[in-house]
Amino acid sequence: MENSGSKTVLAGLTLSELEDFITGIGQPKFRAGQLHQWLYQKPAVEFDLMTNLSKEFRKKLNEIAVITETKIVQKLTGQDGTIKYLLEYPDGNRVETVLMSYEKRPNLTACISTQIGCTMGCAFCATARQKFVRNLTAKEIIEQLLIIQMDTGKLITNVVFMGQGEPLLNYDETIKATQIMNKDFEIGMRRITISTCGIVPNIYKLTELNRQLILAISLHAPDHELRKKIMPIENKYPIEEVVESLRFFAQKTGRRVTVEYILIKDFNDNIEHAGKLNKLLKGLKYNINIIPYNPVDGCNFERPSPEKINKFREELEKAYKKVTVRLEKGSDIAAACGQLAGKLQEIPATFSCK
Ligand code: SAH
Repeated sequence: MENSGSKTVLAGLTLSELEDFITGIGQPKFRAGQLHQWLYQKPAVEFDLMTNLSKEFRKKLNEIAVITETKIVQKLTGQDGTIKYLLEYPDGNRVETVLMSYEKRPNLTACISTQIGCTMGCAFCATARQKFVRNLTAKEIIEQLLIIQMDTGKLITNVVFMGQGEPLLNYDETIKATQIMNKDFEIGMRRITISTCGIVPNIYKLTELNRQLILAISLHAPDHELRKKIMPIENKYPIEEVVESLRFFAQKTGRRVTVEYILIKDFNDNIEHAGKLNKLLKGLKYNINIIPYNPVDGCNFERPSPEKINKFREELEKAYKKVTVRLEKGSDIAAACGQLAGKLQEIPATFSCK
């Protein structure tokens, strides 16, 4: 259990950990269940709002505990209702977290971060321009959800690990976080998506876990030569090995894999590229998400025209009917895919996109 000065931090504690805390201060065990509900499923921003707890107990909690010490340092709301939060952990490190809502769906999706910065160096991604600092702990990962819920008073229904960092390079804490999401927040495993640039050994590890999670793969090119131009990880885990691990995942878990493909003008957006992609993915159970490139400061890539995007989509549909062009959310507040920069120290402009 974590202590803040002399106070206990409750964020991230499971029911049995809360029971230990509660009985440790001489309170009846059932109080833990009440507190647990207020933390994860109601959610209350302060102890005084936890109305089914006695006044005396609330006073005691105020003296010895805090819900979280992580703070919102900036909050931006986009025209489409997307909210981007800049959060600061007690050690001064910051991450971005995005909340997306959809007009016709009741879903509230949190796009969360797993690392402060990232080591992957993908050419098209804003996070790659930051210095990597450290992995987040499971508690810090779920605090992102807790804080969104506390701020909006609404419950998150879906989670995508598509914020800053590479979740499969912070494997244990990421998995631990999914367990807390599932057990404590009661978010269905099938509503949690882990997106990876392709850390092959950990895709196998995740397969062996056999959870009902969605695995998304950032593919972005149909072959080795093209992919390695924009994703350095391709040199370590080549695309053929990545796809083989996806086949294994899909077979073992019976789950469809989500393929993500950023469309970059005059780079990977030809009909031939689409044809190659169809061949590469033949026999795999997948959904495919086309993500028209979102502009990133200092990067000279461009987004293809809507006609070009449509042609690419039509070619993909020859092999597989369900192709989605990812809705752009929060682009006016730089909260769209790949735009999370966390206001951290930036790497000087020696970095080139092409
Ligand atoms: N590291 C993980 C998750 C973070 S990125 C991964 O690589 O999957 C989440 C998604 O946004 C990935 O598919 C990533 O490739 C994509 N992305 C990054 N920069 C982008 C940009 N400028 N435009 C569109 N999508 C981008």
